[in-house]
Amino acid sequence: MTQKKISINADRLWTDLMALAAIGADANGGVTRIALSDADQDAHEFLMARMRDAGLRVDVDDAFNVIGTLPAKKPESGQKALIGSHLDTVPNGGKFDGALGVLCALECARTIRENNIELPWDLEVISFCDEEGGHHAGTVGSRAMTGALDPEEILRPGPDGRPSFAENLERAGGDPTRIHNAARPASDIAFFLEVHIEQGRNLESQRADIGVVTAIAGIQRTEVIVAGEAAHAGTTPMKLRKDALVAAAPLFTLLPKWASSRNSEMTATIGRLQLSPGAVNVVPGECRFTVELRSRNAGDMQALQNLLDRHAARQSNWRLQPLYRKDPVRLSTPLQDRVTLAALREGLAARNLPSGAGHDAASFAPHVPTGMIFVPCRGGVSHHPDEAIEQRHAAAGCQVLLRTLMILSGEGGRLDPA
Ligand SMILES: [Zn+2]
Repeated sequence: MTQKKISINADRLWTDLMALAAIGADANGGVTRIALSDADQDAHEFLMARMRDAGLRVDVDDAFNVIGTLPAKKPESGQKALIGSHLDTVPNGGKFDGALGVLCALECARTIRENNIELPWDLEVISFCDEEGGHHAGTVGSRAMTGALDPEEILRPGPDGRPSFAENLERAGGDPTRIHNAARPASDIAFFLEVHIEQGRNLESQRADIGVVTAIAGIQRTEVIVAGEAAHAGTTPMKLRKDALVAAAPLFTLLPKWASSRNSEMTATIGRLQLSPGAVNVVPGECRFTVELRSRNAGDMQALQNLLDRHAARQSNWRLQPLYRKDPVRLSTPLQDRVTLAALREGLAARNLPSGAGHDAASFAPHVPTGMIFVPCRGGVSHHPDEAIEQRHAAAGCQVLLRTLMILSGEGGRLDPA
């Protein structure tokens, strides 16, 4: 079936992006919208108003995901097509991470409605709650929707003893005991598509407009607690010390070597380290740090975790506390093909690439056909006030999302779950 060429409104998309960036804006140009904070809720109010203006039916589910539905005139399968991303940010983050995907989805729904295009599915524009891990592990709303969220997880305290997701959900007017109601059967969902900034430099360096995402890296985090003996730094001779930092130190250089020798795409990071009691004149009695592993290959991630486990077992007084694990996922090959075709038809340069960062799409990929469309961001900078994209790339990502929906719709809307 051929379809007339329809175009998103690039200026309207950009105006929305700038208006949204003003919500939770920081003095230094960044944006702070921690999930379920007042700024995050204001952003959701903004989105819901825009959704209503666009003629979408607006719902908020029990995980505080905001859903704007454009109903199919003649639903053929009873399935829903899901598009979206998240509006929450890291502290002092950027204007586009997450926001671009939600507003591109909204702009597509608006364009489809304005052009009176009939789709074979209900189209749902979604902003997922707490993608960034403002409380614990992140991707809370999308995992709740796929039924993969452990209800115990939302009770864990946030970073630095801040309230849990459950406490903040309640404060925002939700009911944490009902979060399981957000789960939906995979058979109800035709596919999930997410537009996002790349958060890396591949597209920029290859002068490509569009990234067709092939896979999303898995993440495994462990807290390591090394016990020593706190002692006076002046009166305790070197040979009598049980210095927890010195005991831990060899791992700090071993870990990067293990990762690079395993696989060049793998990363291993010790990003947080605390010494107790933490005084200049006291031998550290405890050294506590996090180890984060990321890889697109579950086997490589497990192999590195095994090395860490064995290293810890050979030491005395080491304890490992698993924090969380998200498996790497491959994205749908049929959807990658459609996105590539859509970019080609729009005259845009597309490249295949994997994602090193986690996304809501990773929650869907094990259950339903899932695809991601990346657009370049300047210098690969993200999670930072300097995060920037070009207006033409925002428009390109949105237009490719629209064209992909048109291609899928023209095919009757059914996809093999490959
Ligand atoms: Zn994001």
